[in-house]
Amino acid sequence: MTLIWVKIGNARGPKGDPGVAGPPGAAWNKADATTAVGAYTNLPLGVTPVLSGAVATSLGLPVARLGTVTVTPHRADGTRRSYMFETNYVNANSPREVWTTVPDGSGIMQPWEKLWPRPKALIDNGAALAGSTIYTLAEGRWYVSGSIATSVGLPPSGSGQIARNGWLTIKYATGSSDAKHFEWVTDDVNNDYTTELWTAAKRSGDATIKGWRQVYPVKASLPSALDAGLRHQIERDQLRALVKGPISTAGATPVAFVWDDYPATMKAKVIEEVRRIGLKITFAVCSRSLDPGFENIKGVGEVTWSDVNSWVVDGLVEIANHSADHQDAATDEELFDTIVTGLTELRAHVPAANPRMTWVQPSVVYPNFNNGDSPSAYANEKAGQLIAAYHPYYTGLQKLIGSGAIPMSGEPVPGLARVWVDSMTEADRKAAITSLAGTGRGIIISTHANAIDAASRWTLAEMISYLEWLKAEEVAGRIKVMFLSNFAFARP
Ligand SMILES: [Zn+2]
Repeated sequence: MTLIWVKIGNARGPKGDPGVAGPPGAAWNKADATTAVGAYTNLPLGVTPVLSGAVATSLGLPVARLGTVTVTPHRADGTRRSYMFETNYVNANSPREVWTTVPDGSGIMQPWEKLWPRPKALIDNGAALAGSTIYTLAEGRWYVSGSIATSVGLPPSGSGQIARNGWLTIKYATGSSDAKHFEWVTDDVNNDYTTELWTAAKRSGDATIKGWRQVYPVKASLPSALDAGLRHQIERDQLRALVKGPISTAGATPVAFVWDDYPATMKAKVIEEVRRIGLKITFAVCSRSLDPGFENIKGVGEVTWSDVNSWVVDGLVEIANHSADHQDAATDEELFDTIVTGLTELRAHVPAANPRMTWVQPSVVYPNFNNGDSPSAYANEKAGQLIAAYHPYYTGLQKLIGSGAIPMSGEPVPGLARVWVDSMTEADRKAAITSLAGTGRGIIISTHANAIDAASRWTLAEMISYLEWLKAEEVAGRIKVMFLSNFAFARP
């Protein structure tokens, strides 16, 4: 097991700063080390202001670098002091350095000692490795420049990236010089090129290693088609157990009513009507819709995740994953972020939500996915595989039978299109449901809260009237309005 330190910030200011100016500029020299506490004023105990590189050596510091001096008492009586000089980070060729010095028994300062980075082992620059390969090197630690790194057998970074400076450590695997372990730790160059850790091994008798493995940073791992299929099966089995499916509706037409986005407008215009009338609706929401910058899917008004969670607790709403940010995604990392990280974030925001969350497809562009308009989109495309792998049920854009009627057998048929009722006439939006009576089919009807009183959409009064009609139909036993997770396993 390898422990890896991960840098989470730079507490001493931006890196890449070579140090062109800075306080204190006051005279400071090694003799000050014997100055008594209290009598010394320029460099008090603790962390000093940053010293500029321009004055560092003139003040007695070991290198001309921007940095910070920390002064601590070396003896209990405080009559002598120890110094630590931490330089700023400039770049790979000029990384942070840490130096210390202490007084001897007579109070005379000793030479500065470099604590970090440790002196380079064996090879101080890449040139010494030119024309050689790492496979023939002896045990030890080597510093290799990026200009020759790949030519001596070190792994390339991600495609399009530069070759990297870094440290190579070689250990014999079994005491034999012919079987070796390799560890390659690159320098942290800038925000685009963080430290990478790669490992590899060479077996006895082999001329080269079989391949490098990147240990850090961990790449987003997308499932294969087979993994996605198996994972989806597990998700589905768990949801079936959770909702105790299949669920009989005793002849009533199964209906799921999905509201997308606009949590603030949901709170302002929808939730209290749903509560008064007594319906179960599914709320497809993005995990970042309350973050700054996502006002376009937040809606109008004030709302908190605590509000949303309370709707779930009250039994009015079920949460569906609607992606993290409602944005297009192209790379593996972007797809994983918006589909899977979004799911993780939603679970955190809405702790009362069903942990086996369904997916409601936002209208976005994922590579070759077309919002899930075909079986191939889920079988062969990364977006579809991720959606299937992490959700027990999902909507898409496939239409099996006419205008959105869904066969209801008690087992989910995922990836099907929804029917948008807010732009229909009142007669049509009722007929979309009543026409399914006795057919063994159900329907997912949908809208957005911001469609209320919008051009060519329904009015608030029409929306409320429709909710009341749905409730009346339910009371009469002709339809059953269900959360999407229950709808998935319903049969009339
Ligand atoms: Zn949406």
